[in-house]
Amino acid sequence: MRHLILSLAVFSAAVMLAGGMAGAYQVQRQQLMASTLDANEAFAAKLAKTTSDLLLRAQSNLAYAADQMERSGMAPAVQQAEVDRLRRLELGFNAVTVVDIRGIVRAAAPESLGLKGRQLDSAQWRDLVDERVSTISAPFVTVLGNLAIVISQPLFEAGGRPVGRLSATMYLRADGGLQRLAREQYFRDGTYVYVVDSSGRLLYHPETGRIGTVVLGNPVIEAVRKGRSGQMRLVNSRGVDMLAGYAHVAAADWGVVVQRPVHAALQGLNDLMLRVLGLTVWPALALLALLWLLSGWISRPLGELSQIIRDGDQEGGLRRIAAVNCWYLEAQRLRGGLLEAYGRVRTQMGELYSAANTDPLTRLGNRRGLETALKALDERRQPFAMVVLDIDFFKRVNDRHGHDVGDRVIAGVADLMRAQARQEDALFRLGGEEFLVVLPATDLDGALRIAERLRAGMERARMLGDEVVTLSAGVAAWDGGAAEQTLKAADQALYRAKQGGRNRVEAAP
Ligand code: GH3
Ligand code: MG
Ligand code: MG
Repeated sequence: MRHLILSLAVFSAAVMLAGGMAGAYQVQRQQLMASTLDANEAFAAKLAKTTSDLLLRAQSNLAYAADQMERSGMAPAVQQAEVDRLRRLELGFNAVTVVDIRGIVRAAAPESLGLKGRQLDSAQWRDLVDERVSTISAPFVTVLGNLAIVISQPLFEAGGRPVGRLSATMYLRADGGLQRLAREQYFRDGTYVYVVDSSGRLLYHPETGRIGTVVLGNPVIEAVRKGRSGQMRLVNSRGVDMLAGYAHVAAADWGVVVQRPVHAALQGLNDLMLRVLGLTVWPALALLALLWLLSGWISRPLGELSQIIRDGDQEGGLRRIAAVNCWYLEAQRLRGGLLEAYGRVRTQMGELYSAANTDPLTRLGNRRGLETALKALDERRQPFAMVVLDIDFFKRVNDRHGHDVGDRVIAGVADLMRAQARQEDALFRLGGEEFLVVLPATDLDGALRIAERLRAGMERARMLGDEVVTLSAGVAAWDGGAAEQTLKAADQALYRAKQGGRNRVEAAP
């Protein structure tokens, strides 16, 4: 029972704990993922905005420098001063050039590039010269192997005729402005940022080796290429489950993606759950110990009761059951029920015992009862006397009146004996119409008196109307020997009473 209570308690506690933890885990997980997605989307939007701002600032600085050059009538000194100034700005320009209408480099910064005065291939500048607005080029790989974009601004004469172009190159792979921006948002917690252009080419990626490669089939890149902003959970090209926020960079038709692996986002949650579990262990152990004690208290009365039943202790059983400390209702009821059942069994045993030792016709002791009585007398060894009775001429009674009437006479003698006997006397029917009275603490004289009373009582009883039925009696007192001997002596005395004419009492010598 103790084990039953304990395992029940442990089982239900485990189920509750597991259910609670699982529920909490699920809710926390959903919340963490949602907030990670929201944060990433917000960061992506902020980065896109900052990137747009950077490009727009670059464009407006270029426009300002172009304006200065045009006002000076394209004075070479102003051109050089402006490209130098642009190069020094914190915009991440790696190279700034002025190229005239014939493809000759008029001014360049830094001068170390040695571009000034060079004639460019027509492919490099022809398209640009015809372009009459400010542009941001698609990313491309330079002669030196750098991925770059070119922001450029047309230059005009006073008459509005194009005379050249002011261009600034941003190396995407170098530590330019874009990288600095992205790196600012590069967290240690696994979150990272990458930037793609409208063709799916990586403009920035923390794994610098991947910059310039084209990624296709990645759902977030597909979305951002289409100019969308938002958030999504996806499995990236490396098979990692990711939480991504993405935003479109309006100024250049690029996309910024901020993403964090799901496992990194949930790492904290797993640690938290482990800590909660760790903190739960001690209270759980304390509870278990308490349950161990409690279940002992609960099962103890039942254990004690069942032990008493197993012992089958007829004598002390009732007393032991009553002594069991039953401190709760069910045990008390069980104890009450057991006491009742035990009592009943004892009564029934007593009834069986007395039935086995009683003559049914007269309700006096029978032969079996006599044997027990003789044994008791032998053990007790206290003075007693015996009177043996026999109805005279009983055969005649049967013959004249029938067996049933004979039985009534036998029962009548038993009633007579009961009427004369004291509380402590024992009465038996020895068989047929012979009876015995055992008189404890009685001497021969006392026994003779009682025998005489019985004889006289029978004579007076007139059980068959006018017809007198009598009985004869033999009396003997204990001689210190076996009780059986006293019975025999009384029997012999009876025989003498019969011989002597019946309806009389004879004493053993
Ligand atoms: P005596 O004076 O010598 O005792 O003569 P008796 O006729 O009484 O002789 P005895 O005691 O030997 O007879 C016993 C008779 O009692 C024999 C039997 O028919 C009768 N008897 C024995 N048991 C029962 C009984 O249970 N019911 C009846 N109705 N008669 C019984
Ligand atoms: Mg007789
Ligand atoms: Mg007889």
